[in-house]
Amino acid sequence: MVIGAGLAGAALCAALTRRGWRITLLEAAAGPAQAASALPVGMLSPHLTRAPTPLSRLCELGLADARAELEQLLAPGQGWQPCEVDNLGHASGRWPAALVRPAALVAAWLAQASAHPSFKARWQTRVARLLPPGGAPDAQTRGWRALDANGCVVAQAPVAVVTAAFGSLALLGDSLPGLTAAALPLRPVKGQLSLAALRGPALAPRPQRNNGVFVPCYQDSGLAPAWPTRIWAMGSTYRRGDASCTIESEDHERNALSLAAIDAAAALGLRDAAASGELLGWAQVRCASLDRLPLVGALPDLSALQALMEQAGARRGRLTLEQTPRWPGLFVLAALGSRGLTLAHWCAERLAARIDAEAPCALDPDLLRALDPARFAWRLARQQPRPAGA
Ligand SMILES: Cc1cc2nc3c(=O)[nH]c(=O)nc-3n(C[C@H](O)[C@H](O)[C@H](O)COP(=O)(O)OP(=O)(O)OC[C@H]3O[C@@H](n4cnc5c(N)ncnc54)[C@H](O)[C@@H]3O)c2cc1C
Repeated sequence: MVIGAGLAGAALCAALTRRGWRITLLEAAAGPAQAASALPVGMLSPHLTRAPTPLSRLCELGLADARAELEQLLAPGQGWQPCEVDNLGHASGRWPAALVRPAALVAAWLAQASAHPSFKARWQTRVARLLPPGGAPDAQTRGWRALDANGCVVAQAPVAVVTAAFGSLALLGDSLPGLTAAALPLRPVKGQLSLAALRGPALAPRPQRNNGVFVPCYQDSGLAPAWPTRIWAMGSTYRRGDASCTIESEDHERNALSLAAIDAAAALGLRDAAASGELLGWAQVRCASLDRLPLVGALPDLSALQALMEQAGARRGRLTLEQTPRWPGLFVLAALGSRGLTLAHWCAERLAARIDAEAPCALDPDLLRALDPARFAWRLARQQPRPAGA
């Protein structure tokens, strides 16, 4: 079972069904891509840093992969459009990029998954808790059980993957003994995009990025009925720790300020549109981890980790991340931050290969370790003071 139908869940369903897995997708909303992945338009572009970081290396891999998926699955104008972006801050210059409506990718990946007759999607199905295998005589055949708020089993499977973005924290915290927010540090980061109908020519030759991205023209026949089919946009704001989705005029003004540093005339246009009531807004919650890297892999079993550390005594500092005990058949793919378009498919492919027990990929092991969902719990456990006499 896969829990959550945004970019992460949809990419994973496609990757697993391609490997022959039978999937049940469970989603709290009435359909796919209703949360952060409902973004009307986002940008796929290089992550430029002064020196290579794990995130910049990951984004380099993800970018090429995501671009190939777009070209293979979607016609330009129906969910994406190739472009270049002018970077005005550090690493200034012109870079290849693409404007993308994530819901189009989600739909394409779910269409791939649905081509397998065994694929099932269940909407309006919020999973409140996961119960591990065990506890009943036939438990080994029943695997993980997903319960709704009334305690009813809504699905069961030998393998469960949580792709519920910030919702993963509550779900896993309520399901796994000892899994604190420190062991799984996921944070909400609210973002608001300001946009309006574009009636005349594009407002600039190409998108520009400084503190935020200015999209001078985006046209897409598949934009939701609530949106015009031709828009310009500026975004997005960052409100760390805020898990709300309300549109704020203060955040439109923040976008206007960021836009003023890119294009003063366009910023005046944004404020005029706000004054005349023509400005539209879209706000949702990104999910970020403490070190801003995604969580991709098997979840740690904290009670077993604690026991292992106690047993290791003075040698606990030598226990490696790979030795961290895991829940059998329980995985997570979350914390894509503001890079879901770049990272979802690449991470989903790595996780599907891991679940399918394919031969380990020839990737930088440090990079794979940097994504391990057990990294926080492992570090915490090693730092804990040793019991007296140990
Ligand atoms: C304003 C804004 C601008 C952005 N701009 C860009 C951009 O330019 N480029 C880019 O790459 N990315 C951008 N992003 C980030 C991108 O949208 C996210 O990284 C991506 O959509 C995350 O996908 P996801 O599948 O992890 O999460 P989501 O799309 O949020 O999906 C998680 C799903 O899990 C479901 N769920 C949660 N809890 C449960 C539960 N208990 N049971 C069942 N279902 C559950 C939710 O309903 C939801 O559908 C932006 C985000 C925002 C908010």
